[in-house]
Amino acid sequence: MEKPVKEFIRSFQKQDDVEAAEMGDKLIEAIERREPFKNLELKIAPRHGVHWVSYSAVPLGNRENHKGWRGVGRDITAQKELEIQLYRQANYNHFTGLPNRFRFSESINGRIKDGGAGYTGILGIIRLGGLDKIRTNIGNSKNNEVMGQIIRKLTDGAGDNALIGNLDGWDLGIWIDNPDIYLVDRLHQFAKDLKNPLRMDQDYFHISCSIGLAFYPEDANDKKGLFKAADLALNSAGSLLNHRVVRYTKTFGTQIQKRLNIMKEMPQALGDQQFEMYYQPQIRRRTKEIIGAEALIRWKKDDALYVSPVDFIPLSEQSGFIITLGEWILERITRDAMTWPLPLQVAVNISGVQLEDPGRLLRSLKNALKKSGLPPERLVVEITESAVVERYNAVSGFLKNIKSWGVQIALDDFGTGYSSLSYLQNLPLDKLKIDQSFIRNMHRDQKSEEIVHIIILLARTLSLTTMAEGIDKPEQVGILGKLGCDVFQGFLYGKPLAIGDFVGMLNGPSPSQPSVAE
Ligand code: C2E
Ligand code: MG
Ligand code: MG
Repeated sequence: MEKPVKEFIRSFQKQDDVEAAEMGDKLIEAIERREPFKNLELKIAPRHGVHWVSYSAVPLGNRENHKGWRGVGRDITAQKELEIQLYRQANYNHFTGLPNRFRFSESINGRIKDGGAGYTGILGIIRLGGLDKIRTNIGNSKNNEVMGQIIRKLTDGAGDNALIGNLDGWDLGIWIDNPDIYLVDRLHQFAKDLKNPLRMDQDYFHISCSIGLAFYPEDANDKKGLFKAADLALNSAGSLLNHRVVRYTKTFGTQIQKRLNIMKEMPQALGDQQFEMYYQPQIRRRTKEIIGAEALIRWKKDDALYVSPVDFIPLSEQSGFIITLGEWILERITRDAMTWPLPLQVAVNISGVQLEDPGRLLRSLKNALKKSGLPPERLVVEITESAVVERYNAVSGFLKNIKSWGVQIALDDFGTGYSSLSYLQNLPLDKLKIDQSFIRNMHRDQKSEEIVHIIILLARTLSLTTMAEGIDKPEQVGILGKLGCDVFQGFLYGKPLAIGDFVGMLNGPSPSQPSVAE
């Protein structure tokens, strides 16, 4: 009798389904023991689809004289399907279908445990930028296609054996066991390759990325420690636009603590009036007169200690405090500029994070102008290329708006980022500020001078005013004069000054003006 039961059960099961076979074995075992059993599940695949049945039964007769079974089989397919769905939801990313952080880290755990002595591995956390924009603008399917391309590139570099997961948001996780010595180079190459736009049908997509790495067992010896280390490394990589790959080092912990402290201190510092606006003069080449100033923020923590904006502005962007700080800056600089002689302009730096909520920024600009009474023509808004590239539509709408009021627009740090001609043509710009790095090297590096030359020619065809910043040597003035740059800014003409000193300078003798070779 036993044999037919076994065959009978097997005949309803797919041959290569290991899970179904295990369930079948348990049921067969119970039947062979001739003891009562309860809720034994069986996965069967009759003709259509897969079904699950739960069996409970008691034997009839006794051990010597077995007379059969009395029992029930209950179809539990719906319940099982729900369980599977729940499992998927708990273990896989909804959009990409990749293992989520939980599943991915459990798998790493498994590999470490199975690996034994001598096992090594590298955990990479890859933060991708630009995908959410694709999802909002074009939809999920395109987004998944782009993600598919990225994952293919990643596995090309890391090998088929790599585990890949989709952690929170657009973070990918990668685990490579027993990596060879070239693996990190290949990850660098992967990050670098992503600087080229990905092509999908007729469209091009810009994806930015940074990667944080943690090595097992050197950097941490369990999954929790590895994730923490890779996260710290990732956070120290800075802007995604840099496409950097950073490995964890032990000093990251204290660096992060310092940065967290600064973030926490900023709101209090604003209340304590520790922030001040400084003004750096801008000089027109032809007439040598001051035409305005760039407003630059200073944080005086105590009398001796200044924190550089290069350090705290990015942190205020991360914490979101830049929104409040930015509004304070706008009020302060418009009020200050009202004390200057007409028609001096004040230029203000606007952070990309402020541009994420163009409506709010428009309101605060309008408020500041109204409250101070500064004519819009005397205000210049400086934005960087990267801020434009990351949120093009929102930014171009915002710029058109303020332009219609009469506010002027300058593109800051030009030449370092994308330097895309289409941005230059389509945005309502007035001024182009050539990045300091070219100015700094111009007098000793022919290539920098050529780049500056091209930028100036380009700006001229688009009727933009050219500005050079970071001028601190007379030789630079000579070259810039020859190339026809319109406006000069730099330590040579004046360092950023507190409002009182700046106004004093305006009213006093004119700043030292080196002769300009033209
Ligand atoms: P930026 O807008 O490109 O500002 C120019 C920077 O170059 C300023 O640095 C200025 O002090 C410095 N600089 C000017 N002339 C010279 C020179 O001849 N030699 C050298 N070596 N440097 C010169 P600062 O004030 O440290 O600001 C750095 C960056 O921080 C700014 O770059 C800007 O991106 C940001 N920042 C400063 N103030 C603000 C602000 O009020 N709001 C926002 N959102 N960002 C700000
Ligand atoms: Mg600037
Ligand atoms: Mg600049």
